[in-house]
Formats: sequence, C-alpha cells, structure tokens
Amino acid sequence: MMLLVLVMASDLAAAPRPVQRFARLTAARPCGLLRCMTLSHRITRITGGGPDGWDLFRKARRMIAEGRPVVELTIGEHDIRTDSRILDAMDAAARDGHTGYAAVPGIPELRAEIAHRVTAQSGIATAPEEVLVVPGGQAALFMAHHASCDPGDGALYIDPYYATYPGTIRGAGAVPLAVEARARDGFVPRAEAIEAVIDAFEGHARSLLINTPNNPTGAVYGRPALEEIGALCGRRDLWLISDEVYESQVWEGEHLSPRALPGLAERTLVVGSLSKGHAMTGSRVGWIVGPRAAIAALEDLATHMTYGIPGFVQDAALHALRMGPAFEAEVAAPFRRRRDIVARLLATQEVVRAVPMQGAMYAFLDVRATGLEGEAFALALLKEEAIAVMPGESFGRAAAGHVRVALTVADDRFEDALRRLLGFAAEQARKRGP
Ligand code: PLP
Repeated sequence: MMLLVLVMASDLAAAPRPVQRFARLTAARPCGLLRCMTLSHRITRITGGGPDGWDLFRKARRMIAEGRPVVELTIGEHDIRTDSRILDAMDAAARDGHTGYAAVPGIPELRAEIAHRVTAQSGIATAPEEVLVVPGGQAALFMAHHASCDPGDGALYIDPYYATYPGTIRGAGAVPLAVEARARDGFVPRAEAIEAVIDAFEGHARSLLINTPNNPTGAVYGRPALEEIGALCGRRDLWLISDEVYESQVWEGEHLSPRALPGLAERTLVVGSLSKGHAMTGSRVGWIVGPRAAIAALEDLATHMTYGIPGFVQDAALHALRMGPAFEAEVAAPFRRRRDIVARLLATQEVVRAVPMQGAMYAFLDVRATGLEGEAFALALLKEEAIAVMPGESFGRAAAGHVRVALTVADDRFEDALRRLLGFAAEQARKRGP
C-alpha cells in the first residue's frame, strides 16, 4: 500500500493501468494504518493528465547525474552566473537587515524603478501603483490568470507555447484554449484563428495570453499583428496577458509591448522578469504591470499566496535594473553570437531549416526533412550524440516536427554540438530519404 501511496503522489499517470485503477479505488478509503487522502482535481489535473513536456529534460538530467557528458541545450538557463555586483547588492542588503517581511506589493523604490522603465519603453505613463513585484514571471502568469478568469472561463493561448502555459491556466481553474499559429505565418497568430476558437468554446472566453519575443519559436510580433490582436481583445472583451520576459533579447525588429498601443493599457497585464534579461533565474523576481484596480486586487492575492518576495532580493533587483540597458545587452550578447553561429552553419546544408530567429535565447529548428518527429529526433540525438534538445511537441501541436535548441553553452561547445546535430540530421535524412 505504501508503494501505491508513493506512486500516487509522484506520477500516477505514468504507472501501469492496473496500478492506476487500484490506486483510484483505494484512494479515499481508510487502508490499514494509512488513510490514503485524495488530492483536489485542480492539482492532480494541472498537467492535463498527459506528459508535462519535460520528459526529455529529466532524462538528460538523469544521464548527467550518472556522470555522462551530455551537452545540455534544453532549458533557458544562461551559462553565466548572476553578476557579482548584483550579488554584492543582495549580500549588503541582507547584512543590513533587509531580511524581515518586505512590503507585499514590492518595496516602493523597486516599484518606482519598474514603473519608470515601463514608462520609458512604452511611452505610457506608468505609476508605481500599476506595478506588482512577484516571485518571477511564472508566478506573474499564474496570478494574471487568477485575476482575469473565473473557474470554467476560457483562457486562450498561442500554440506553440511555453510548456507551463496550459497548466498555469488549469491551476487558475480556467479552461486552456489553444490557438494554433502556423509556421507559414511566422508563428504569429491570426485574429480569425483566435476568433474561431472563441466561437467554438461553449463557455465565456476571458483572456488571451501572448508571448513576444516568443519561446519557443523566436518570433517577435510586429505592430500590425499586435494591433490586430488588440482590436480583437476589444471586440471580444478579453484581457490581454502579455508575457514579455524576453523583451531585452531581440535580434530583428524591435520589441513592442501591446500596452503601448492605444486603448490597450486598460485591458493588458504585462508579465516581466529579471530571469532572462539579467541572468537572475534563481532569484525569482518579476512583475505584473496593469491597471491600478487589477494591481490592487492582485496585491490581495499576493497577501494570501506569497506574502511578497524577500527584501534583499528586491534590493538586488533594484540594483540590477539600475545597471541599465548596457548591462542587459551584455547579458544578451552570447545569445546573439550563437544565433549567428546557427545561421552560418545552417546555410551550409539543406536538411534542417531554422525558423527566423528574431528574438529570445533559442533556435527553433524544423527537422521534418529527416523523416522524424521532433520527439523521436530529440530522443535519438540524446542517445547517439549525447546532445539534449527539447522536442517541439513539448510546446504544442503546431511545433511538431521541430526541436528547440537553447543557445546556452559556450560558443565553441555550442558550434561543435550544432555541427554534430546537423551531421546526425543528414544521416537520418539519408537513411529515410526518398
Ligand atoms: N515565460 C516564458 C515564455 C518563459 O520562457 C519563462 C521561463 O523560461 C517564463 C515565462 C518564466 O520565467 P521566470 O519565472 O523565471 O521569470
């Protein structure tokens, strides 16, 4: 029985069917000394019952733990550490006593600094009361869906998508509604595709989540696309949740926040973070920018959920933001270089095609000419070349037949891994070719 309890708590969905059935039968019943408690539907269904998209990543991590020399190009984690000046600021703040409960919506200086940044970037005057400091972009996404959707409401998101999106929406009790963005449209969604999903949904769609620069595709939405999306949100009375965590990693075009467009500030919740732009993934600090009333309500949510984030982390974040755009360009520079490596190597072959790399820290590669799906390609690449990349299928149906390569190891190692990936792809294409 203990075994079953453990299976239930970890990964019942992956257990053999008879074990699943038995576990369900016994779940709510007293069983000997143990009472096997049932968990809420909200939490047990957060991944939708299927795999959560991280299997290959976990496999690669297991291989690394066993001492195997895997080149890991899976998650969006920099190969540099947080800058020592930021760490010094964190250390000094902690030693100066900023270790007690900090202001729940964020310390005033940090809210003011973020408001100032957003005003300068968007041209829309933004007050500190329109900013909530939260523990990272992921928490911001979770909270933004709580703010915009009631249980059972539809929450739209664009496929391909960052792997946590559907679970985040389910976690808020809403119904995830995927809208496919097509490769031939540069993975930018069309308004009519979004409207078709809204019309097909029997309930009430309340929010639309977009992400530009985009993970995994690297697409950067231009003004016309954002205007179209904004007009649609107005027409269908949707909250627009705009995930902009890669705002400082733009290689082509420029980042435009929909909040900057006429009439959109009142219905947009912007998700920002210091994780990617400042190499502070582990500090867990981000923000939500939105209308005052929404931020006040989200402050109530924060009071009951996180009770804010550590004061010394906020002081470090303030220091990081004050290092200015030159520092963000420095953090982004390696990804720009490696993107150029991808472009150079891909130009010498015809099997693998890169989706235009306009922004973010990934290359999104179309491997369909190898005759393999993204998942089969990634698994075989890990087995045969010890190179770990994410299968496109982890990011949705529209990403099938692709793999996402994080630009996150040193240039020479990256170039070597990419050469081997291309060699492997050529070999597969030869084996399965026409
Ligand atoms: N949004 C996107 C598109 C991401 O890729 C990530 C992380 O990889 C996040 C949000 C969450 O970032 P964090 O919680 O570290 O700020």
